[in-house]
Amino acid sequence: MYINGEWVNAKSGKTREIVNPYNQEVIAMAAEGNEQDARAAIQAARIAFDEGNWRTMPASARGELVYQIGQLIRRDLQELAELETWDTGKTVQESRDDMADIANVFLYFAGLADKDGGEVIQSPIPDSESKVVREPVGVCGQITPWNYPLLQAAWKIAPALAAGNTIVMKPSEITPLTTVKVFKLIEEAGIPKGVANLVLGAGASAGAELSVNRDVDLISFTGGIETGKTIMQAASHNVKKIALELGGKNPNIVFADADFETAVDQALNAVFFHAGQVCSAGARLLVEEGIHNEFVETLIERTKRIKLGNGFDENSQSGPLISAEHRTKVEQYVEIGKKEGATLAVGGQRPDDPELQNGFFYLPTIFTNCTNDMRIVQEEVFGPVLTVETFQTKEEAVKLANDTIYGLAGAVWTQDLDKAEFVAARLRLGTVWINDFHPYFAQAPWGGYKQSGIGRELGHEGMEEYTEVKHIYRNK
Ligand code: NAD
Repeated sequence: MYINGEWVNAKSGKTREIVNPYNQEVIAMAAEGNEQDARAAIQAARIAFDEGNWRTMPASARGELVYQIGQLIRRDLQELAELETWDTGKTVQESRDDMADIANVFLYFAGLADKDGGEVIQSPIPDSESKVVREPVGVCGQITPWNYPLLQAAWKIAPALAAGNTIVMKPSEITPLTTVKVFKLIEEAGIPKGVANLVLGAGASAGAELSVNRDVDLISFTGGIETGKTIMQAASHNVKKIALELGGKNPNIVFADADFETAVDQALNAVFFHAGQVCSAGARLLVEEGIHNEFVETLIERTKRIKLGNGFDENSQSGPLISAEHRTKVEQYVEIGKKEGATLAVGGQRPDDPELQNGFFYLPTIFTNCTNDMRIVQEEVFGPVLTVETFQTKEEAVKLANDTIYGLAGAVWTQDLDKAEFVAARLRLGTVWINDFHPYFAQAPWGGYKQSGIGRELGHEGMEEYTEVKHIYRNK
């Protein structure tokens, strides 16, 4: 762990085995921090914020340091990508793409650091002057999940530092490796001691301390909806600012006039990318009735050809699930889907390939004949499971798509752009893609409507989350 500019072990001396989900080999031992370690990190961040010069230094100088982190990530991109694949099992090509995006996130927020100079406003009181400025919030607790370990961390670290906050990051206890490596780069970049702190360990101890400790001014969390609720409650004790990026059950709407080939391939990519362990996975496919049968037949055919394997094998298209526990959860959902009367069209079991027996693999799975009242359609499986429903009109497609507690992302496929805009305007989602699935970038905000979250990451909105607004009035 990295606390107050020092690399330290857990005060308790405890460690945790970090396991490669491809073969269950132990690949590292990580410090297992707890509340005590979290408190030490919070204290370091508090002192660095209150007494250091991080928040008062010229914003352009802060931006330069954040820029430097991005450059170091580019320098070490291959090493970081390999660590991420060891830790998550995702293909190394996916990891490389993630790392390139992560470097861009640091460069983007570095550039934003000195762009908001505040504004002078017209005071209605004679002989007075008013200005409105943005300032850092203070000490930020940041908690991330295991599916995009470093990407989710970067979305939080880069804007928080660029805006002049100090941070305590706690990555998922299952996948800490790349975040540890990036803190080495943060040290190398010359970020002052105490400004950026890293605590490892379980959510219920190290993470819970971040959400309840009164010296933390803001808690930013990405993860499951139930954990999000717990953190929200804990944060309410001292009215912390909160930012939540939670789950999704994202609709992918295909009209009969869509480009058939692209829509099929992208429907597969939407849900099976990273074995479906993506908050924005297109897990609910809605297909217009006229093309439904042909579309589904083609999907099933192509699903059977998806090659599961070692993330380091460039021929692998998908890796394992993250853990035995998570695979069991996916299996339970498949059983629920069967009991509810959905038709299991393909998959629904572990692969029988002998080479994959030591990993947490699960075959890409499609349920057809689904209806919106089924749990398999409504609840986030977070695995390679697609449900298919059909619709007749654009109004019906919108109604089905919106009929969920989630509101993260979704897509619409049609060559009629008026129809696409009609649907996009009515979907209650933080991101709508037209004739594509999954693109995101540092310049555009990311976040959820409804129970998918509170607040936004990325874009200038992502920076504003890490600022307070102050009105300064002067009687001349
Ligand atoms: P999780 O909620 O189990 O854990 C996420 C993090 O919270 C981990 O670091 C964990 O240690 C910590 N945590 C657990 N209990 C805690 C507590 N009581 N107090 C404080 N921290 C605690 O989620 P996960 O299984 O790691 O990730 C999967 C979930 O993340 C999915 O629901 C997925 O949709 C969501 N996710 C959302 C986005 C998004 O952008 N909206 C992105 C990625 C993942």
